[in-house]
Amino acid sequence: MSFERTHTNVSRRDLVRLLTATVAAASFGGASAQTSTAKPRIVVAGAGAAGVSMASRLSKLLPNATVTIIDARKEHLYQPGFTLIAAGVYRPGDVVDDTARHLPRSVKWVQEHVAEFDPEGKSVTTTGGQKIAYDFLVVTTGLKLDYESIEGMDSKLIGREGIASVYASPQSAAACFSQVAQFYDKGGIGLFGRPRTEMKCAGAPLKFAMLADDRARTAGKRQNTKFVYYTPFTNVFSVVPVHHRVAEIFKRQDIDVAYDHDLTSIDPVRKIARFKTPVGTEEMKYDFLHLVPPQRAPDAVRNSPLPWKTGALAADGWVETNRDTMQHGRYPEIFVVGDIAGVPRGKTAASVKWQAPVAAANLMSVIDGKPMRETYNGYTSCPMITAIGKAMLIEFDYAGNLTPSFSFIDPLQENWIAWAMKEQALKPMYYAMLSGRV
Ligand SMILES: Cc1cc2nc3c(=O)[nH]c(=O)nc-3n(C[C@H](O)[C@H](O)[C@H](O)COP(=O)(O)OP(=O)(O)OC[C@H]3O[C@@H](n4cnc5c(N)ncnc54)[C@H](O)[C@@H]3O)c2cc1C
Repeated sequence: MSFERTHTNVSRRDLVRLLTATVAAASFGGASAQTSTAKPRIVVAGAGAAGVSMASRLSKLLPNATVTIIDARKEHLYQPGFTLIAAGVYRPGDVVDDTARHLPRSVKWVQEHVAEFDPEGKSVTTTGGQKIAYDFLVVTTGLKLDYESIEGMDSKLIGREGIASVYASPQSAAACFSQVAQFYDKGGIGLFGRPRTEMKCAGAPLKFAMLADDRARTAGKRQNTKFVYYTPFTNVFSVVPVHHRVAEIFKRQDIDVAYDHDLTSIDPVRKIARFKTPVGTEEMKYDFLHLVPPQRAPDAVRNSPLPWKTGALAADGWVETNRDTMQHGRYPEIFVVGDIAGVPRGKTAASVKWQAPVAAANLMSVIDGKPMRETYNGYTSCPMITAIGKAMLIEFDYAGNLTPSFSFIDPLQENWIAWAMKEQALKPMYYAMLSGRV
């Protein structure tokens, strides 16, 4: 495996530093809150990007509160780096860190999962049977990658039999790198695509397809392969101008698109994928399959009273969340941040950076008995890598308006700066977000 390709020199690095500082400075202008001497018991369920960020903020804002975070996972994963591992730019070790390093000392960490949420009784019960009462709860459990809901699929197949998935872990992302090379060396049909469900970083399946295409071309072996991108929808991305731009790039790169194709089952022995389409079931043969699984609320959340009861977000268990305030729709002492939030859009780490200050400020208002003041506008960001060294910095809101942070960068043009932001600038910003500094 080679990780050699970087495209940086000192002046470019300086430019990226400048951009990072600009983005960080801009974010200080967002939601802010005064510290309080209140002493509530706050439980944060989940210690990923959203949970650690919220625990850090709340422990600063409420120095006398008891903040308890609950999560059995000890490793912190910088998931936006997974696509860069699959591209051969990062190593798996570059995205793994100890959660403990990012938690303020004053935060108590219970190293178990939440097994049951009891919002009426204002308590959670852990997998080890501890019942923990709270005055306020922040739900930050992220989501479940539901590979097994594709008939014939078993997550143990990832990395074998031509099945790859950049989503599962840093190791599976690393396996993607070698699997793509095997695919273009041998030649054949590569299927890439996305599930029908809500998903984190909806750009990642597109990026992966474009990176695989770029690598096959650089190796001089693209002519051995056929690329097909399947989507259950009539678009490749839900934001209209982004859809048109990516469809144009796919056409340029000779990546076919199978619209209205919803992956329902695979036969890993015969290497056949089956799709539900408007005209019935269709089978496609593959030699390489990049499988992005359906994504849903983790079972403990899905089986609790917290999810939406009706509407498009109910079936998969997303938590009923006010899209503006990040407060639970029925339980005012509960706030929701990150992938588990049942809001349209917003399943990226960049969204957490905007949701967390809003949720923290509004939670402070509720604690102090004041009206909530802060709103989240659906900010979602996706550095859409189109090749090694090139990306488009796509940022948008609930309404699907493009909301570029930099007026001098066209969000729909491939450029090196957007790539450098993804490769170098986003990681330090992410860790600053965990500490509650941005
Ligand atoms: C391949 C890939 C590429 C991505 N690219 C980008 C990108 O370019 N830009 C970007 O901004 N974002 C990107 N993302 C998305 C980003 O990583 C997520 O949106 C972000 O991590 C969400 O944070 P979270 O805290 O909600 O979930 P997570 O960070 O996943 O953390 C959830 C935590 O909750 C814990 N948990 C689960 N169930 C329970 C339970 N019952 N009790 C207690 N704890 C529980 C888990 O162990 C985990 O630690 C990407 C993600 C992937 C997978």
